[in-house]
This record gives sequence, C-alpha cells and structure tokens, in this order.
Amino acid sequence: MGSAAAWRLASRGGEVTLLERFGPGHDRGSSHGTSRIFRLAYTDPFYVDLAVRSLPLWRRLEEETGRQVLSLTGSVDHGPAAITDALYEALTASGRPAERLVPEQVAERWPGLRADTGAVFHPEAGRLHADEAVAAFQQAARAHGADVRHGVRVTGLSVLGDGVRVVTEANEEWRADAVVVAVGGWTAALLAGGASAPVSGVPKLRVTQEQPAHFPAADPLSWPSFIHHPGAGLPATGRTTDGVYGLGSTDGVKAGFHGIGPVVDPDHRDRTPDLATVRALAAYAERWLPGVDHTGPEPLTCLYTTTADHDFLVDRQGPVTVLGGCSGHAFKFASVIGELAASLVHGEPGPSRFALGRRPRTAR
Ligand SMILES: Cc1cc2nc3c(=O)[nH]c(=O)nc-3n(C[C@H](O)[C@H](O)[C@H](O)COP(=O)(O)OP(=O)(O)OC[C@H]3O[C@@H](n4cnc5c(N)ncnc54)[C@H](O)[C@@H]3O)c2cc1C
Repeated sequence: MGSAAAWRLASRGGEVTLLERFGPGHDRGSSHGTSRIFRLAYTDPFYVDLAVRSLPLWRRLEEETGRQVLSLTGSVDHGPAAITDALYEALTASGRPAERLVPEQVAERWPGLRADTGAVFHPEAGRLHADEAVAAFQQAARAHGADVRHGVRVTGLSVLGDGVRVVTEANEEWRADAVVVAVGGWTAALLAGGASAPVSGVPKLRVTQEQPAHFPAADPLSWPSFIHHPGAGLPATGRTTDGVYGLGSTDGVKAGFHGIGPVVDPDHRDRTPDLATVRALAAYAERWLPGVDHTGPEPLTCLYTTTADHDFLVDRQGPVTVLGGCSGHAFKFASVIGELAASLVHGEPGPSRFALGRRPRTAR
C-alpha cells in the first residue's frame, strides 16, 4: 500500500520519499509471493465499485513499467446458492459480466476444480503477481522522481505544527509536510503513544500468521481463481468458517483457509508451518481440487492485519495519512488505495467506511 501511495503521489508531482524497513521483495509482511486473487465479486456494491476503479490503475501501472502484473483468468465462486446468487446480482447490477453455472458445467470447463451447490463465474478476475506489483509500484514511483529507500526502519513519528518529524533506527531525521503510514502488521506499534500518538482512533487490529500452500498441478496458470464459500458442502465451522480461496500461479495452485491463523507479534513469529493445517488443506484438495497433486503441498506464511468489520483504514488526520487494516483482502485494491492516499494528502475526502475512529459495521 505504501509503494502504491508513493507511485500515485509522485505522479502528481510531489516530492516523495519511500522508507521501507526490509529489502526489495522481502517476505516478512503481507505482500510477497507470486499470486493474489483479483476479483470484482463482492456482495457489497461498495467493494465491487472499488475493484472496478482499481482495474484501469493496474493497467496504467503495467503501461508505465512494462511489467505484467495482472492476468485475467476469471474467477469461480461456489458454495450455497444464496451466496452465489447474491454475487451474481451484485456484479450484474454494476453492469459487469457474470454467469451462473451448475457444478457439472464447472467440471466441464475446469476439470481440476469440483464445485459445490451453486456457482458463479466472472471473467474480470484472475491473478495479480504480488512481487511484480510491489516492484512495479516502486519502479513507477522512481520514474516520477520518488526516492525509494530500503533497509530504513522508522522508529518515531511526531506531528510538529502542520508538518511531521520522522526518525529512523539509524537516527536519521526527516521533516515532511505529510506522511503516509502504511506499515501493515506493524501499524499499532508505530502509531502507539497514548495522548502523544500522531493520530487517534486507530482501532484494535488482529495480526495473524496465515498459511496457504501451493500444490503441484498441470498448467496452473490456466486456472481461474476460486472462492469456496461455506454453508453447503463446506462446513461453516473450524478451519473453513470463512471459506477457502485459491488460484494458479507459477508456483502451482495455491489454496488457503481464509483468516484462521494464530495471533502473532510480527517481529517474533514462528514461520514454521503448522502441520495440522497443511494436512487439512491436503484433505480439502483431495476432495475439491482433483486437478492438483494433493500429496505435495508446499506451505508458506504471510500476515493478515484485520479490523473488526474487515473494512480497511484509509484516512487522514492533519499531516498523517494511515493505510492499513487490510484484513486479508486488500491486494486487489492496492492501486486504487494508492490513489485514495494521494487524494487524501491533497486534501480531498476519503471513504467514510475507511475512517479512523469509525464505529465498526457489524463484524462479518
Ligand atoms: C496468505 C495471504 C493471502 C492473501 N490473498 C489475497 C488475495 O488473494 N487477494 C487480495 O486482494 N488480498 C490478499 N491478501 C491480502 C493482501 O496481501 C494484504 O491485504 C496486503 O498485502 C497488505 O499490504 P500492506 O501494505 O498493508 O502490508 P505489508 O505488505 O506488510 O507492507 C507493510 C510494509 O511496511 C514495512 N514496515 C513495517 N514497519 C516499518 C517501519 N517501522 N519502518 C519502515 N517500514 C516498515 C514492512 O516491512 C512492509 O514492507 C492476502 C494476504 C495473505 C497474507
């Protein structure tokens, strides 16, 4: 999110410096790896619209950098018909193409995927290459004049009048008219400080270590992305409470349980895979993903930083803009979140849904 904001701010002609604690392509946060699902299918029209707005910005990023970031292979949502019908209605109400399918049609078109009771396909979905996207944001930011620095850890942030003072671990000091804080799982740590905190209203954030796995498969890049919603053939309890997601990538077909990992301290987390979760994913794959080799999962770990209502934080207080609370579903929106950040810095309003200090909507 920070790299996206640097690109959009620099493209408006601002003097921009991006400070990143770790090296290029690091795997300590939430945005590493070869794949993230891009999709428009949300039951909530607010998110359909946000995803639609992100699409031309992804394409502009590709044009500016010459990198392929987004591949549209389509997406299959399947599960209880009530949910897939609601997704179909939300997509078509927004004028986006979508098709209702029965499980037999899914099996015919994608023999690697076994669908539950109801299914909906939409073509404006697919795979974002996460590492390429972050590198492209930084490349594009640099091309617009931004100074992109890795290995610089910010340790302090204070508001001084209408500007900001930023201090780093190496005791460097920066002064700026505005700062965008986009530190993922480290948000609470950097914005703590009680009465002297640089912003107020940062909600409680749950930082968890999530653990999908890649499975070997023939031609994984031809797979659509997929979401298996619980409530029909998939129990709405235990590891599958919030469903299963997956997609093809150069590493195989990725599948994961959504948001079930343990709460962790991002600086002291155990990155060794939980074998019970790996076995449960393999059992899922054996039943629902006949096109993968369920005996060969390769697990990986990554952080979710989740708000109570799963809406993000994209808001500004004085000279400080905060991007965070990405709740395990924000990568697809990174291009438009960068644009929203640039708008906020330039004094335009942001979505009230993403405000600091908001009353959370009913938790999902
Ligand atoms: C397993 C997994 C699967 C996912 N799948 C999808 C998906 O399919 N589709 C989708 O849309 N989303 C998905 N997401 C969610 C998406 O990846 C995240 O919402 C998004 O990457 C969050 O980005 P971020 O910039 O907030 O956090 P990060 O990527 O963690 O970035 C924060 C950065 O801040 C840096 N930083 C921290 N502290 C400091 C400091 N003090 N000084 C300087 N730098 C600092 C960190 O090093 C890090 O690089 C998934 C997430 C995970 C973990």
